[in-house]
Amino acid sequence: MATPQLTTISPSMNPSKPVNHYKAYKPRPFKKEERDKVTILYGGLTWKHERLIQGALHNLNYKAEPLPNITREDLDAGKELIDVGACCPTIFTTGSLVNLLKKKVASQGKDEVNDKFVYLTAGACGPCRFGQYHESYSMALDGLGLRDFRMFLLAQDELDQGSADGGGLEINMPLSLGMIWGILCADLLMDLEYMTRPYEVNQGQTDRVLKESIEYLYDKFRNRPDRGKKLGPLAWHLMTNYFTKALRAVRKKWEAIEVDHLRVKAKVKVTGEFWLQTHEGEGNYNIKRWLEQEDSEVVPPPVAVWLHYLLHPSIRKLEHRHSASKHPRLQQLTLKALERVYRGTYNRFRKALGNLPYELPDQEELRRLAEPFYHFELRGGEGHMLIGKALHTYHHKKAHMTCELSPYSCMPNTMSVGSMANVLGKYPDLLYAPIEVKGDSEVHALSRCQMILTEAKKRAKAEFESVLNKTGLTVDTIRKYEAHHPELRSATYRIPHRDCAGVAANYVLHLANDRGLARA
Ligand code: SF4
Repeated sequence: MATPQLTTISPSMNPSKPVNHYKAYKPRPFKKEERDKVTILYGGLTWKHERLIQGALHNLNYKAEPLPNITREDLDAGKELIDVGACCPTIFTTGSLVNLLKKKVASQGKDEVNDKFVYLTAGACGPCRFGQYHESYSMALDGLGLRDFRMFLLAQDELDQGSADGGGLEINMPLSLGMIWGILCADLLMDLEYMTRPYEVNQGQTDRVLKESIEYLYDKFRNRPDRGKKLGPLAWHLMTNYFTKALRAVRKKWEAIEVDHLRVKAKVKVTGEFWLQTHEGEGNYNIKRWLEQEDSEVVPPPVAVWLHYLLHPSIRKLEHRHSASKHPRLQQLTLKALERVYRGTYNRFRKALGNLPYELPDQEELRRLAEPFYHFELRGGEGHMLIGKALHTYHHKKAHMTCELSPYSCMPNTMSVGSMANVLGKYPDLLYAPIEVKGDSEVHALSRCQMILTEAKKRAKAEFESVLNKTGLTVDTIRKYEAHHPELRSATYRIPHRDCAGVAANYVLHLANDRGLARA
């Protein structure tokens, strides 16, 4: 395999020396007959997403292993081997691959690692470093002396990419749909997890039920029926009740968790750069767990919003006739239909879980909200979505505050944090905590978040007291009522969203307005 090299000497200085031009990384073929001996390594999401993706890969007879969760040591390993200007997610993810490969080389030797493992990662093009992650990985592989290690890219916008060189890895409909369906199911369970854990009565029960539910769904993904390779799997995934049945069974498991919805918590919407906001671990200082320890409820960012966002640039281009398509109208209608199917599938899954997980925000609305501050055609990172999400949260009272995780050395996030200054000028009471994450300045980052969180907690308390005053209910009256209506203390009891951000305040309004609970 060719190794990327830079020309170090000009031919005019030394005409007898041949010029070694730079050549991009190209993996050795991964052959079909190797499939049962080679393990596919992958990572970058939460353990829940990765386990369900593993189910989809096992279903297609691939050996697959997620990378271990990111640690602080991965930052150091990444810094040693890639360029210094890289953004912190690139450094962390490269370091994670590096540390795993080092361990494998120590136990199995280089040749074995080159032959028995391949790395599958998302590929993209675009104005930020996301399009260049694989360059960092190849630089790191070079630094490790693993020039023959194979790495393959999974494009985000093609369900059927055919087989990688050699046919060992086929990125086809069953694989792509299995992965996307796994991501959607993991997102929904992640919503359940974060909306339940802060209110659980028996500590640790949410995590136990979550683990059990993910294992149950893993089996379902692993045992998906074979419906061929093209339209068969597409039709089956769209029409089957296989997954909704499984999610209904999961909901039964969550019913048993006892919760106390009268705990007054600040609700915090987490947004930010894709990897950083999705990650759960040392890569973002474990900020989601930290927020829970600080008496708040996290609204986590689903990967499904990102996938939904990816559909939109093509729709916008066609709307504005910025496309070279021969049939723009037809393509536009097809994409819109695809979008409806996507949202419909997500909502079907939500319904199977009692409509507890949050709805996907309307991408059109996010664009409209962000429009005066950030143009939707400025791509890179989450683009206009960060502004759109902060305003969506604020206008619809989805949370008391927004915590935006911005990677150190990330251009797109720097732009949206800058634009947020303008937003805050117009909406001074919007609580917004932009946290720059470098990976090694935890105290600084968390203390910045703490400042805004203190105000959010005050608002949550004031909101709760105000609805108690308005309805005339007391905590005692509600407790007595709950004693006769145990269903209210189940994690699957759905509290409708009223005019408040906090769960406790919405709960009181629901009891007074919908269930007719009157003052004592
Ligand atoms: S959005 Fe920022 S952090 Fe993410 S890959 Fe691009 S430059 Fe790096």
